[in-house]
Amino acid sequence: MRKASARSSSSRTVAAKLSKLGIRRDLDLVLHLPLRYEDETRVTPIANAPPGLAVQVEGTVRSTEIVYRPKRQLVSRIEDSTGELVLRFFNFYASQAKALAEGATVRAFGEVRTGFFGGEMVHPRFRVLLGSTPLPQALTPIYPTTAGLGQGSLRKMIEAALARAPLDDTLAEGVSKALGLCGFREAVDSLHHPRPGADEAGLSARTSPAWRRMKFDELLAQQISMRKYYRERKARAAPPLLRPDKERCHTAVLVERLPFRLTRAQQRVWKEIEGDLAQPHPMHRLLQGDVGSGKTVIAVLAALRAVENGLQAAVMAPTEILAEQHFRKFSEWLGPLGLEAAWLTGSQTRKERESTLAAVASGKTPVAIGTHALFQEHVQFRSLGLAVVDEQHRFGVAQRLALRRKGAESHQLMMSATPIPRTLSMSYYADLDVSVIDELPPGRKPIVTKLADSSRRVEVVGRIRESCAAGRQAYWVCPLIEESEQLQLQTALETYATLKAEFPELEVGLIHGRLKPAQKAQTMAAFLAGSIKLLVATTVIEVGVDVPNASLMVIEHAERFGLAQLHQLRGRVGRGAEESVCVLLYQKPLGEAARSRLRVIFENSDGFVIAREDLMLRGPGEYLGARQSGAPLLRFADLEKDSDLVEAARGTAEVLLRDSPEAAERHLERWLGGRADFLRA
Ligand code: ADP
Ligand code: MG
Repeated sequence: MRKASARSSSSRTVAAKLSKLGIRRDLDLVLHLPLRYEDETRVTPIANAPPGLAVQVEGTVRSTEIVYRPKRQLVSRIEDSTGELVLRFFNFYASQAKALAEGATVRAFGEVRTGFFGGEMVHPRFRVLLGSTPLPQALTPIYPTTAGLGQGSLRKMIEAALARAPLDDTLAEGVSKALGLCGFREAVDSLHHPRPGADEAGLSARTSPAWRRMKFDELLAQQISMRKYYRERKARAAPPLLRPDKERCHTAVLVERLPFRLTRAQQRVWKEIEGDLAQPHPMHRLLQGDVGSGKTVIAVLAALRAVENGLQAAVMAPTEILAEQHFRKFSEWLGPLGLEAAWLTGSQTRKERESTLAAVASGKTPVAIGTHALFQEHVQFRSLGLAVVDEQHRFGVAQRLALRRKGAESHQLMMSATPIPRTLSMSYYADLDVSVIDELPPGRKPIVTKLADSSRRVEVVGRIRESCAAGRQAYWVCPLIEESEQLQLQTALETYATLKAEFPELEVGLIHGRLKPAQKAQTMAAFLAGSIKLLVATTVIEVGVDVPNASLMVIEHAERFGLAQLHQLRGRVGRGAEESVCVLLYQKPLGEAARSRLRVIFENSDGFVIAREDLMLRGPGEYLGARQSGAPLLRFADLEKDSDLVEAARGTAEVLLRDSPEAAERHLERWLGGRADFLRA
């Protein structure tokens, strides 16, 4: 009785440990692939063991003792025909001390270091040999594990799972052959038990055919899950938004009246969006374009297309500042067409809010603009045709999925100024259609980026003085303090006080996230009107803000910002005809990572190039908002290094979903174990 309950409680603890590793089923064990491999097929003579490399040695125990200085440890001396070696353990069981009895033959695997008394291995894996024990013929897999779960037990469980789990292929043989991939069973087999003489380098570098098959399978599961959404959406109905007759065509009138010509890229993406909106299915399109590429006018055109079709449009922005700016831009362009945009803001009185909401609900107001949060809580439309979500990267993928579940039946246009590298948009964004504005409006002068260490602050202050004296305006971006919002605020207040004292002749403004929406709006309006000359700001101005007369930006402690953030911030200048300058003030000494970031931002102005560098420096988590959502990212594949596989997986997913949906389901089940979303834990 007691025994049984002890066993079940111990199997519970094993299950808990496995679940820490994300293992719930036999298949999860099968897909729990080695972290690396160790070579136990050879014995290295002690005298030849190279320092710093893990090797296997074999010798006879000469002595084993527990010593207490400097702290309790087990010290065993072994010897082979070439030399002597100390095995040292700071944590050990009594049974281990006993096993290492004088005269025993022991095989130990570890890194040899030069210790005080000659060579030693600290905490080697070891085995006492009883009789003749042939060397293993193949590399030994080493698995990722967690405290209290040894390699030995994990290996046994994986063995058992390999015998039990269904390992039949989800890909037809022809398909894997055509892609140059091996079969699934063969792949897991050879990764868990590499064959003698297996390609060691390929196994370690994860470039062997077996690894490529696993990476492909993982990417394929991701593609299937994202493309399933895509197909489901195309099967749903939404009102087609058609181009009306010429006399009633607001969009055509707007294009005619614009003070500029649409760039070729803008014309192309508008065509793509137009085509998509005319379909009887909900559009979910991501519009990417670098900062300043002119996404707003495209959003206005799309909104007008809904209005021309008798439907309403919602425009959602991540911040109040941005929502207000959109409200101004939209009003400027819609007003002459006799159309009105409603602005939903936190600074409205209750009465104002209620009447705005009523106008939206009755359909009197065709376009409503506000923050994302506001829309989620309050707004009822009479007939919503299109939702525009600006700067969608701010919301992260988790929020995107939530939004998708909610507003499933309307058309959606998502806009992002953080260019998404191709491999990423082909994978995590594969549920969407993508349009790219890859051209800036003509006549933009490139922004000059300067790096200056903080000892040159005086010079920088001088530049601001000159620039403002010449009638231009400047931003001063406060240091980012990620750890504490409180400290961040305090720093902003201090920076403001210092700069105010330094520029007694200038109107200096301050804007940060803790201000009331009305205060923020007032400050931004004053900066736009030119009465504030120098705007001290936190990253609240990171996205979207458009003040063409501001041509100088100083970013203090630039080394603390991420690449995407720096690119966004810098994009706030360079919007007018003047030459613009962005000064990155940094504090020495610079760490390795900060130095690479500053180099990338200094050398590049193309957002796509910067985004790719960012993806390589930091991985995809940042883009996907995965840090907040805890979403599981790819375990084996690397979007950049395995871009050929991403491409192949995309094509295969399409074919599978079309021709053998059942195999697609089976593949998803194998990799996701019944979780529907690739991005949810
Ligand atoms: P973003 O893509 O960063 O949102 P905006 O839509 O704010 O960029 O556009 C940046 C600026 O460029 C705005 O002042 C806008 O009016 C202007 N603009 C947009 N399209 C063109 C164009 N084709 N030619 C000239 N200026 C343009
Ligand atoms: Mg914008």
